Amino acid sequence: MLSEFELIRRYFDRPARSALLGVGDDAALVKPAPGMALAVSTDMLLEGRHFVVGAEPRALGHKALAVNASDMAAMGATPRWATLALALPQPDEPWLAAFTAGLYALAERYEVDLVGGDTTRGTLTIAITILGEVPAGHALLRSGARAEDDIWVSGELGGAALALAHRQGRVKLGQNDAAQAARRLDEPEPRVALGERPRGIASSPIDIPGGFAGDLPRVLERSSVGAQVQYASLPRPAALAAFAEPQLEAECVLSGGDDYELLFTAAPDKRAALAVLGAELGIALTRVGTIRAGEALLELLDAAGRVMPRTAGFDHFRA
Ligand code: ADP
Ligand code: MG
Repeated sequence: MLSEFELIRRYFDRPARSALLGVGDDAALVKPAPGMALAVSTDMLLEGRHFVVGAEPRALGHKALAVNASDMAAMGATPRWATLALALPQPDEPWLAAFTAGLYALAERYEVDLVGGDTTRGTLTIAITILGEVPAGHALLRSGARAEDDIWVSGELGGAALALAHRQGRVKLGQNDAAQAARRLDEPEPRVALGERPRGIASSPIDIPGGFAGDLPRVLERSSVGAQVQYASLPRPAALAAFAEPQLEAECVLSGGDDYELLFTAAPDKRAALAVLGAELGIALTRVGTIRAGEALLELLDAAGRVMPRTAGFDHFRA
């Protein structure tokens, strides 16, 4: 059986490109460029909680890094270095080969170095800490939303939740729609380019792991403002709208997490600049509502302008 030392050497010891020192010593050494602050964030994925037993390892490797890169995007930071704490039941080589292939493919694309970690036997658990760079004083904080700002969302909401509903047998999607939704759930694309670029245009971005109705209120609380959002304007997959099941649709669009799109606010005079940015990056950016002075509450309006009942986001201790 593969020893811990050999396992690390074979699968995790890759030359670091931008770190001063990577895997192999007691600690890695990294140095942000002059004028840059380090952004640091950790996200973990647990078997049975974030993914099912037997989940495809390549997608897991991708997703573990993607959800962390998404946090960098939401700070306006560029992801640079990562460490991986991995517990696995046994040193399963095909699993490790596929897992690291998924992880390294994404790391390569965003030029993130895996610079260290820890490996132990246990229930499959994947915890990544990511470090990114952001110009000091220019991180995009959740406290940046101002009254009368527009509220924007990238891409579409609800695709990952729709894939989950399909997998659980609650809905039946056609083959193409199922494949498309599955990609949203298993291999989300972190909005890294979008996170870096709106510095100076947008403020208070946040990624949406807990669903729109769960995560927007975090911005509202930090910014001490309210929001009014037109439910019909929230971008959603065509397959979801085609079901004509309003309950399921609202659940996926409002509470469905795991899409890793970005939600952000911007002053109304930035609309043209954001249209240019969206076109340049090839990412749909949709204006969905307005920040309002007052209590930190999200008011959702239906197509007739009536206030809709409140929907909760995902909470690990309540689910
Ligand atoms: P230590 O005794 O200092 O904990 P380890 O034997 O656990 O060292 O790890 C040896 C080297 O391999 C260290 O540089 C560590 O950061 C790295 N490493 C261990 N596990 C991983 C992993 N899963 N991914 C990346 N690097 C790892
Ligand atoms: Mg160790």
